Amino acid sequence: MENRAFAASAATPDCPATTLATPDLEEQITLLSASITVATWRLLMLIAELDRRSAWQQWGVLSCAHWLNWKCGIDMGAAREKVRVARALESLPLVSDALARGELSYSKARAITRVATPESQDYMLMIARYGTASHVEKLVRAYRHVERLQESARARSAHAQRALRWSFEDDGSMVFTVRVPAEQGMLVVHAIHAAVDAQRRERDGADREQETPTDGSAETSDALIPSANSFDNAESPVAARRADALCHIAEQFLAHEAVPSRQAERYQVVVHVDRSVLSGEGHGDCCHMEHGGAIAAETARRLVCDASLVTLEEGEDGELLNIGRRSRSIPPAIRRALAHRDQGCRFPGCLNHRFVDAHHIRHWADGGETRMDNLVLLCRHHHGLLHEGGFTLERRDDGKLLFFRPDGDLLPEVPKPPLRVRDIAAIVAESGVDVSAETPRSLWDGSRMDLDMAVGGLMGLNGWDGARPPS
Ligand SMILES: [Zn+2]
Ligand SMILES: [Zn+2]
Repeated sequence: MENRAFAASAATPDCPATTLATPDLEEQITLLSASITVATWRLLMLIAELDRRSAWQQWGVLSCAHWLNWKCGIDMGAAREKVRVARALESLPLVSDALARGELSYSKARAITRVATPESQDYMLMIARYGTASHVEKLVRAYRHVERLQESARARSAHAQRALRWSFEDDGSMVFTVRVPAEQGMLVVHAIHAAVDAQRRERDGADREQETPTDGSAETSDALIPSANSFDNAESPVAARRADALCHIAEQFLAHEAVPSRQAERYQVVVHVDRSVLSGEGHGDCCHMEHGGAIAAETARRLVCDASLVTLEEGEDGELLNIGRRSRSIPPAIRRALAHRDQGCRFPGCLNHRFVDAHHIRHWADGGETRMDNLVLLCRHHHGLLHEGGFTLERRDDGKLLFFRPDGDLLPEVPKPPLRVRDIAAIVAESGVDVSAETPRSLWDGSRMDLDMAVGGLMGLNGWDGARPPS
């Protein structure tokens, strides 16, 4: 079908909107709106295909939404939403068809895809057809609220029962009892493991397997105060070390609370690297993580690109010859200047400005200097692409950064604009849909929606049986 109304009297530069009679104005808005919906459906189908192919990956961007942001100038929130809706429509054919015909607005489709399942899509379409976009929004919000209440009931009770109590024992010790939600508890466990490891590294080379808790406490307990740990065999040395670690964490917190966290030391990953690996002469077998497996040479180079360094020199038989001072590869003043200059990851299309690493364009192990003109901020993902992902980076004399894909193609800082703009009327004509000003009309009769009943109906269709989540 041809789109008669469209061709007839659209407002153009020759026929500005100010000259249109109000009924024509209204008709043109609803008609164009329905046409944009048809074109939007087409856009979503194309986005879903791009995402299915992961074709955005060739540009090194983090996701399909980042690609939309970079290539089409769509803001990240709207871009993520477009990708989400596009992928959701794959399992909701009825919703997809209604959008394709221009009958269901994108606003309604967006809301529906947040809650609809293949079983409930028809129901949601009925609400959309006989209600307004705000009815649909209201139902979706109410449904999600009820759903969240059910889901979070358990989490809330765990959260509500969190507690920390302590008491003093007659023998001069203190007992702590802590109850926290498991995910927060694991955070504490990780911190304690890290502190135990830190203390182990700090100990002198004495026998590590003995039941001596730590340097400091062992010395005091043996010489001065008989500690319960030294005599009570039921208390394992591991548990004792954890207790020391907890005190160590408290001590560190009090000592450093006023000090802003220094980025490169947020995580301490200890990597043993052979000098030949860093200079690119060795291979991956020579480096391994402390308490972990072997890592690739390029990964080691990435980790030491922006990290604290301790130089250890070992003899042929592994005998320790010399331990150098710990130093950070990027001094704080340079890091501040870098943060000011780069304002976040410099990879084309990346918006990340937190958790960034300073990357040496020419690695320090290859003689690259720790100077502003040899450094660039990159997020973890893009730092990884440059070391292990085959992407490369050059800095021109004028300071401009050039990023290249593994195939050698230059990544444009700003993507090229499209060569021509497609006519929406042509897209609608191509789709074979007959769009008129009546197409997006709601069949709402003005009555109020029974929200409780509507939510109840949707919960039934989505498999919520009482308080049980859908299986
Ligand atoms: Zn690097
Ligand atoms: Zn990045």
